[in-house]
Amino acid sequence: VIEIREIVRNFQLGQETVHVLKNIDLDIERGEYMAIMGPSGSGKSTLMNLLGCLDTPTSGSYILNGNDVSKMTDDELAEIRNREIGFVFQTFNLLPRTTALENVALPMVYAGASKKERTLRAEEVLSDVGLADRMDHKPNQLSGGQRQRVAVGRALVNKPSIILADEPTGNLDSKTSLEIMQLFDAIHKAGNTVILVTHEEEVAAHAHRVIRLRDGMIESDTRNSI
Ligand code: ATP
Ligand code: MG
Repeated sequence: VIEIREIVRNFQLGQETVHVLKNIDLDIERGEYMAIMGPSGSGKSTLMNLLGCLDTPTSGSYILNGNDVSKMTDDELAEIRNREIGFVFQTFNLLPRTTALENVALPMVYAGASKKERTLRAEEVLSDVGLADRMDHKPNQLSGGQRQRVAVGRALVNKPSIILADEPTGNLDSKTSLEIMQLFDAIHKAGNTVILVTHEEEVAAHAHRVIRLRDGMIESDTRNSI
């Protein structure tokens, strides 16, 4: 599904060019379960933002499901992002004044679904993530783990082929982390491609493949024995 060739991502800081990703080559098959690790500042989030079509590379190509994403306009990117990608963030990024149900249904508004379709689908997804009894709660009425479940539900609602998560357990205690990782395990089992960033070896152990970044390059690419 994903074919990355010689991706470079530089940022311009005043006069200085910061070289964040240096010649990344990466192939990810449909249905893979992959963790990205590496020291702080090694470029993990920068790579995730490229994978998630939130950003485009300085040079190199990114083919996603046969489409060359690196050459797309912002509108085309937004479209493909909404259709193909579900993104989960460390800090959940939920709308504070709206209910769990409305948060989950939101990506379907952009996809053009009717209100009835949105509600039915959001209810289904919230049940899948274990929140059938929390649909009308607002984020501040939910625990951290429950908020992250809402965020996972929102990522799943449009049935994307790829789920990306940047440190999804970074703000959770170890018991809640395990529960969220069991959710990702189930999402992978259901046939999705799952790619997550983590600093924790216990979290990475859930994945079947681990790449380690160092200084903007892939230092290692290994398979977990399962
Ligand atoms: P962490 O584990 O702390 O989340 P990371 O591996 O996710 O780190 P990135 O966020 O990808 O690291 O950042 C990699 C480097 O790129 C950092 O040195 C950062 O300062 C730099 N960087 C990221 N975004 C920008 C930007 N928009 N402008 C300038 N530099 C940037
Ligand atoms: Mg990061």
